[in-house]
This record gives sequence, C-alpha cells and structure tokens, in this order.
Amino acid sequence: AAGERLQQAVAVTPIEIAGRLRHCLIQVSDVSIAVHRERLLRDQALELRLQSYSDGLTGIANRRHFDAAMENEMRRAKRAGSPLSLLMIDIDFFKPYNDHFGHQQGDDTLAKVAHALAGLLHRPLDLIARYGGEEFAVILPDIVDAQARQLADAMRMCVEQLAIPHAPASGARHVTVSIGVATRTARNGADTAQLIGAADRALYAAKRSGRNRVVVETF
Ligand code: GH3
Ligand code: MG
Ligand code: MG
Repeated sequence: AAGERLQQAVAVTPIEIAGRLRHCLIQVSDVSIAVHRERLLRDQALELRLQSYSDGLTGIANRRHFDAAMENEMRRAKRAGSPLSLLMIDIDFFKPYNDHFGHQQGDDTLAKVAHALAGLLHRPLDLIARYGGEEFAVILPDIVDAQARQLADAMRMCVEQLAIPHAPASGARHVTVSIGVATRTARNGADTAQLIGAADRALYAAKRSGRNRVVVETF
C-alpha cells in the first residue's frame, strides 16, 4: 500500500476431506523484518571477517593474515618446488621519530609508508602485512632472490622519495626503511621458521651496516 516492496513467505497446505472437493490453505505473510535481520547479520559477519584479517591503522593485512598466507604459500612452494621469497621491512629510527613528532604523527607516517609499499605490489598472490609495530613483511610466491632484491630496492627507494622529514636525533634527513630478503628454493628446502629467520638476519645485517639498505641472505 505504501508502494514499498515486501518480502513475503507463501505456504500452501493441501486440505483433504473425505468425499469433498480438494482444497488448500494459502498463507501469505510479511517476512521483511526477518529478511532484513538476516541480511544485517550476514553483512556484519563478512565485515568482521575482513576486519579480523586486516590491520586497523594501515589497512593492509595483519599478522594473522600473514601467518595464514605464509602457511598456504609454503605448502604450495614445497609441493610445486617453486621459489618463495620473503621481505622483512623495518622503519629506521622510528623511536626517535615518535619521541620528536608524537605518537599521532607516528601513526600517520606508519600508514603512509604502508600505503606506499603496498602500491608496488601488482600480482594477486603477493601480500604485504604489518608484521609488528613498525615492521612489515612481504610474501612473494614464485619469485627468485634476484627479483625479490629488485622489488626490495624499489620499495626502499620509494619510501626515501616520500621525503618525510625525520627527527633530528635520527641523524637522517628523511624517513627510510631497511629490508632483509630471503628466498626458499627447492635446493635449500627451507621451512617457514627458517625462511623468516633468514629474512630477519638479513634485516639486522642491513641495520648494522648503516640502515636505509637492502641485504639478501643466501642459504
Ligand atoms: P631501528 O632503526 O633500529 O629499527 O630503530 P627504531 O627506533 O625504529 O627501533 P625500535 O625497535 O627501538 O623502536 C621501534 C619504535 O616504533 C618503538 C615505537 O616508538 C614505534 N612504534 C611501534 N609501533 C608503533 C605504532 O603502532 N605507532 C607508532 N606511532 N609508533 C610505533
Ligand atoms: Mg625500526
Ligand atoms: Mg622494529
């Protein structure tokens, strides 16, 4: 009557009385409210699932998402004997940055860096995640170490070119990142823990040798 669409449920019940014509009972009821409620629940469930896999501050994948993707890709690499590369990225001197500019601006910068890094990934299975505080991890299926190094170099440069002024105490003009690279191959047969360990070692080697650089760990 109000020109609105109604969601209806129609129930048809045959009624048989011996010696009489067959009849049926047709019951039409308005189920708009139930349908609306169901849709709401479904949308909320979907939203929750998305939220539980993405990082609230940066919008990229969170640690849980990383762990699940890593497990999948590792299984696939082992089965297919294909290479799997991992990048560990850490913002340089981020503590002095926060101390100087405040936590709020620290958060903004974290999100900017994450966004810039994510912009360099184009293949559907590549994944960048926030691994911890100011640390990111990138999973690169089917990529050998030379290609992973190229991407890491591009990421390092891209952050430097954002030209975000750094805190004086950092001794650097702009905010930069250090990157550790490691690759699982059929030959080295690394498992997840070994691959993460190798990328981590490479990252710390990059830090020790002066920061704002890429180091590749070879097994
Ligand atoms: P390094 O070059 O060796 O990585 O130095 P660093 O200062 O970045 O390293 P450290 O691990 O000592 O400090 C990391 C800092 O990152 C600590 C904290 O102030 C900052 N941080 C971590 N998570 C967040 C966050 O979610 N928001 C903000 N604003 N800062 C964060
Ligand atoms: Mg750091
Ligand atoms: Mg760190």
